[in-house]
Amino acid sequence: MVVGDVSTGTDVAVVGGGPGGYVAAIRAAQLGLDATLVEMDAYGGTCLNYGCIPSKALITATDVAHDASNAEEMGIYADPDVDFGEMVAWKDGVVDQLTGGVEKLCKANGVNLMQGRAEFAGNDKLRVVHGGEGQGSETIEYEHCIVATGSQPIEVPGFEFDADPVLDSRQALAMDELPDSIVVVGAGYIGMEISTVLAKLGVDVTVVEMLDEALAGYPDDLTQPVKQRAEGLGIDFEFGLAADSWTESGDGIVVTAEDENREASKTPQADGEAVDGDTTEFETDNVLVAVGREPVTDTLNLDAIDLEPNDDGRLETDDQARTAVENVFAIGDVAPGPMLAHKASKEGQVAAEVAAGEPAALDYQAIPAAVFTDPEIATVGLTEDEASAEGFEPAVGTFPFRASGRALTTGDSEGFVRVVADEESGFLLGAQIVGPEASELIAELGLAIEMGATLEDVASTIHTHPTLAESTMEAAEHALGHAIHTLNR
Ligand SMILES: Cc1cc2nc3c(=O)[nH]c(=O)nc-3n(C[C@H](O)[C@H](O)[C@H](O)COP(=O)(O)OP(=O)(O)OC[C@H]3O[C@@H](n4cnc5c(N)ncnc54)[C@H](O)[C@@H]3O)c2cc1C
Repeated sequence: MVVGDVSTGTDVAVVGGGPGGYVAAIRAAQLGLDATLVEMDAYGGTCLNYGCIPSKALITATDVAHDASNAEEMGIYADPDVDFGEMVAWKDGVVDQLTGGVEKLCKANGVNLMQGRAEFAGNDKLRVVHGGEGQGSETIEYEHCIVATGSQPIEVPGFEFDADPVLDSRQALAMDELPDSIVVVGAGYIGMEISTVLAKLGVDVTVVEMLDEALAGYPDDLTQPVKQRAEGLGIDFEFGLAADSWTESGDGIVVTAEDENREASKTPQADGEAVDGDTTEFETDNVLVAVGREPVTDTLNLDAIDLEPNDDGRLETDDQARTAVENVFAIGDVAPGPMLAHKASKEGQVAAEVAAGEPAALDYQAIPAAVFTDPEIATVGLTEDEASAEGFEPAVGTFPFRASGRALTTGDSEGFVRVVADEESGFLLGAQIVGPEASELIAELGLAIEMGATLEDVASTIHTHPTLAESTMEAAEHALGHAIHTLNR
């Protein structure tokens, strides 16, 4: 111990206060353990402060304005006056309310909160370095440690985040003034969500993507409506191009991208100029780099406990979220699996329960995922192809929103619900939705899979009319060959 250090003991030390860590700490405290949560930045982690919540707040706010100005069909003629500064203040207020709530919940459950950066200082020991000059450090001796240090945006060489015009998603969501134009590198869900917001607010958006599609990994028939609507908003997609470098130019910058296939000369694009056979330049104000996220382990001094990240940089875990070190757990983005807040929270609960001696394990059937683009996409479980690859004979049913009374009354009836089941047993295996409220609708089908429900169960559940949720019932009926409001095969 360094002179001036304070030493404390705890049953469970949780490193990182995101949706993985704070949930783990609260659950541990609920189970009677002495829980200490160490966070070096803001409680709520990436999700509440810089990710899920600010992005969804801005998506909703821009939709209010966008929907109002596109409601002529309903006899509404409006030209909303958007004060972006006020929109940002509202979004920040939502974030503050939630992060303040996390602190209150932790305290109310008896979690000890500690501000600082934690690193391993030997077996069963963490050193917490407090921020700021002369604020000292603290040593925590723990029975169990839950690592929940999350992830950070991946930098692209040539686009380091320390230069003003180069933004990561956190900086893009913290802008207090809108640029006239932006190049978004990466058409994954973060790039697409932020592009949609900015385009709806009148920013000239160009998306540069190395692959030849947006939202890679999602089925084509789910992503097509999103891409088409994005193009309708004026977003220019440049596929097969890899962002290479940027230089200052006048008041803005020029982003250079290389043709991935090194083909012969391209024709100049709407917003980009083909400079030679395989280089295209884009004049813009800012560039947002959203090419993915990588786990954070470099803050932890893992050597002190002989723990090594795997080739992906993550900490391998078993079905109880334990790492190779018996009393050290890893959860959330730093552990294997999809980088999603709800997956982090679930793992946090399980790790806390295991630490408390409960017979808990991660045995979920399917993790849902949602993309909050326009329209939304949501999935859970297996697609038809995945089900076939796993040896099932899939039974598939779809229901288009254009046949849904409720969808028509909302003025947004594009998209569909699809369910995938095992033909023989009828067990639901997966579902995919593109369209209004997809992110909400997927919950029912996640529950159905988790409960081992069959197509019959979903089809025979009485759904409220008129609702979008009826579409899940209709899709199940369609798979069974007796849909009422759409033609059966
Ligand atoms: C723009 C954006 C939008 C997103 N939208 C969604 C969405 O809609 N739905 C969804 O499910 N997911 C979304 N995500 C992903 C989601 O934010 C993450 O999956 C989630 O935050 C992971 O939770 P976590 O607890 O593992 O880590 P994090 O939330 O990243 O929290 C980790 C915390 O650990 C702290 N920390 C790191 N090292 C140390 C240390 N040594 N000592 C102390 N503290 C430390 C960090 O400061 C951080 O606060 C989004 C992410 C981004 C960037």
